[in-house]
Amino acid sequence: MAAYINRTISLMSGDGPHNRPIAPLADTRTTRQMTDNSPLQIFVKAKKKINDIFVEIDDYVKDTVEYMHEIEKQQEIINPEKVKQTEDFVSKVHGIRDVLSRDHMKVAFFGRTSNGKSSVINAMLRDKVLPSGIGHTTNCFLQVEGSPTDEPYLILEGSEDHCAVDSVGQLAHALCKEKLNENQLVRVFWPRNRCLLLRDDVVFVDSPGVDVTPNLDEWIDKYCLDADVFVLVANAESTLMVTEKNFFHKVSTRLSKPNIFILNNRWDASANEPEYLDQVRRQHLDRAVDFLVKELKVCSQKEADERIFFISAKEALQARLAERGQSATTPFTEGFQTRYFEFQDFERKFEECISKSAVKTKFEQHSQRGKLIATQLREILDSIYTDAQISKEDRLKLRKEVHDKINHTETQLMMITQEMKQKIHHMVEDVEQRVSKALNDEIRRLSTLVDEFNVPFHSDSVVLNVYKKQLHSHVEAGLGSNLRARLSTALAMNMEASQREMTERMESIIPDKNKASAALILPRRQPFEILYRLNCDNLCADFHEDLEFRFSWGLTSIIQRFSNGGSGLLTLKNKKENPHNSIVPSTPTDMVDTTRLFYPTSVADDWSLISRIAMLGVSSQGTMGGLLLAGFLFKTVGWRIVVVTGGIYGCLYLYERLTWTNKAKEKAFKKQYVGHATRKLKMIVDLTSANCSHQVQQELSGTFARLCHLVDEATGDMDVQLKKLEHEAATLENAAGRAKVLRNKANYLAHELELFEDAYLKSHH
Ligand code: GDP
Repeated sequence: MAAYINRTISLMSGDGPHNRPIAPLADTRTTRQMTDNSPLQIFVKAKKKINDIFVEIDDYVKDTVEYMHEIEKQQEIINPEKVKQTEDFVSKVHGIRDVLSRDHMKVAFFGRTSNGKSSVINAMLRDKVLPSGIGHTTNCFLQVEGSPTDEPYLILEGSEDHCAVDSVGQLAHALCKEKLNENQLVRVFWPRNRCLLLRDDVVFVDSPGVDVTPNLDEWIDKYCLDADVFVLVANAESTLMVTEKNFFHKVSTRLSKPNIFILNNRWDASANEPEYLDQVRRQHLDRAVDFLVKELKVCSQKEADERIFFISAKEALQARLAERGQSATTPFTEGFQTRYFEFQDFERKFEECISKSAVKTKFEQHSQRGKLIATQLREILDSIYTDAQISKEDRLKLRKEVHDKINHTETQLMMITQEMKQKIHHMVEDVEQRVSKALNDEIRRLSTLVDEFNVPFHSDSVVLNVYKKQLHSHVEAGLGSNLRARLSTALAMNMEASQREMTERMESIIPDKNKASAALILPRRQPFEILYRLNCDNLCADFHEDLEFRFSWGLTSIIQRFSNGGSGLLTLKNKKENPHNSIVPSTPTDMVDTTRLFYPTSVADDWSLISRIAMLGVSSQGTMGGLLLAGFLFKTVGWRIVVVTGGIYGCLYLYERLTWTNKAKEKAFKKQYVGHATRKLKMIVDLTSANCSHQVQQELSGTFARLCHLVDEATGDMDVQLKKLEHEAATLENAAGRAKVLRNKANYLAHELELFEDAYLKSHH
């Protein structure tokens, strides 16, 4: 400090005699320097920077909340707690931005009344902002801050009203008029454009003299806790008072290492006794340094040198007003220049100090909180990202499983279909054989069946028709029930086994949840039963009985008997020539038609033709031949033998004629009927067995088709599941991607704050 003073004094020495009033010098700092190089710019720039970062953080937090609301439904990657936590950050960031916008540098002035606090503030503001003078003592707290408006105004504590003030006189008047007590705060809003310090967010607080009140603690709590710099305005004409010291003792208990400047004001008054000047100055300086370093322990010896100044606020203000042409008189005494330099030096040190201190106290915590928010959000997003990735992988795994299952089911289905086709084919062939064998057996035993029919017989044609009809249905029912008795159990068991096998095979490829419906569909069906559809009514409709009496030893009968053997041969031959007989019609209608088609009318016609010719031959030559035969017999055998033979023949005839009763007629009828029916039934053996196997085929194919449908349904379900899984995986992928982007943004913002701290906080430690 001493070196500094010496330097300034030596600088001054070339400026002519010291006793001559010196013309006010222009401020050594140009306006440009003050705006761009002013230490206050550190605060201004830092504030702008951190504000910009918080605008980004604000946007970022809002984006994140929006993102979270979008993915809110995906509960496996997010929970309401996380959403709530993120939403809370919005208001937190708002709060910080709010405080940030109001952040300023605050300097509080203390000292006894009339030491010149108001004068110092006015000098710094380069304008008569606050009233000062003998007649006026500030008896309340006055806070001067910048206002964006062009007109100054003041607001009293506890009121919202803006009281316009045009001049210092008005302000003084206003302050006197209101009965203010020393604890009240009056905020004076001074246009920013009139003062650089105000523009750069410096707020001045002027206090009532520390000597006027005992309520120091209350003051400190109310107005000083957020002050970045304290300025003690002391009177150079006297030593530091206990009350002044006391106040700062209290301040330093509340705040750790407050920044305290000590201004020894009214230094101009000491100029009157230049011989003691240095001595007085040293005394004041030593005491002040002791106070700061030893008593308060707020700074080091070296720092203390930079905190104690000897100035004249009155002169500084006058000089500045003169610069601006607001003051005509410049009654400067000796040493003014030195004191003015020292005042400017104080201003510079003060600006550096308040700017750094404010950046640190105000922005460090914002930066910390910003970093905390970024870190917490990053953690939340990180967990969302990880969970989304895991869930996505799960989905893809499931998707693959379902996909494989579908493929497996399809190949299995193809295989089973092939097998089942074979199986059905075998089954059908087997049934055809069994039915054909059983039917043939039954045909062989047809006479027994017909014999069992014992409705009273009568040869009258009307009665006979009814009898025939009943016989048809008896045979049909009998055959049917016999066939059923022979085949049903075996067939049903076979069918059931096949169906069960089919179902089991199919069930093995149907997923469990579809099995329930499979179980529902199958047993609901009625037990399968083959319909034999013998339809004897139609089949034997052309049956014509022949109940005329015929003598078994008569000529016609003998010829007929002979021809019967021939007719058998004929039928056989005929069958061979008609291979269509073995064709299996697929429907009962076809069957009936075919029966009619192959009804062997031609054979019967052929036969009747032959027999008629034979009969004709016998009857036309009968008389002549008879006579010749009789004569021949009489001659050779002798008449006795002829007579005896004739007698026996006659008896035979008589016997046969007499036994041709109703019973015999019935017997003959049944025999004829059995013969006819056997022929007819033999013709439809192939047809019937084919028909039965067809029914079996229908039944099995039906079952299989239903099972196939179930499998289709199951694969359909799986397809839907596949699509769903794919969609979910895509959504999760998207969510994860965006979480990653947002997480990286959190990193970026934390890094920005880190850079901010490096630039404005760390380097100034
Ligand atoms: P405050 O009560 O602490 O605010 O003191 P003021 O600023 O009102 O000043 C009280 C009186 O001291 C006023 O009349 C000022 O003109 C005068 N005064 C202030 N500073 C100086 C100075 O540096 N030298 C001289 N000679 N008088 C001063």
